Amino acid sequence: MPFHFDAGTPQNQHACVSRREQDWIVYTCPLCPGYERRMHLSTGEIKTRPGADPYILHTGVFVPTGLEHVGSLPN
Ligand SMILES: [Zn+2]
Repeated sequence: MPFHFDAGTPQNQHACVSRREQDWIVYTCPLCPGYERRMHLSTGEIKTRPGADPYILHTGVFVPTGLEHVGSLPN
């Protein structure tokens, strides 16, 4: 049975989907039901609820109009 340990390979990366909840941008992963990461639009506060697999790298992008500086949010 082969064993792969290549952090950053596509197998270890999940693309999150983002949505807007009032002043929060909420990132969730369609592959990790428990995973959630949210960022407050005004304060920049970030709250993360880890998923089942801590070795998965999560990426998410949310660029609302006028808030381009928010940019990408790795993991
Ligand atoms: Zn995931």
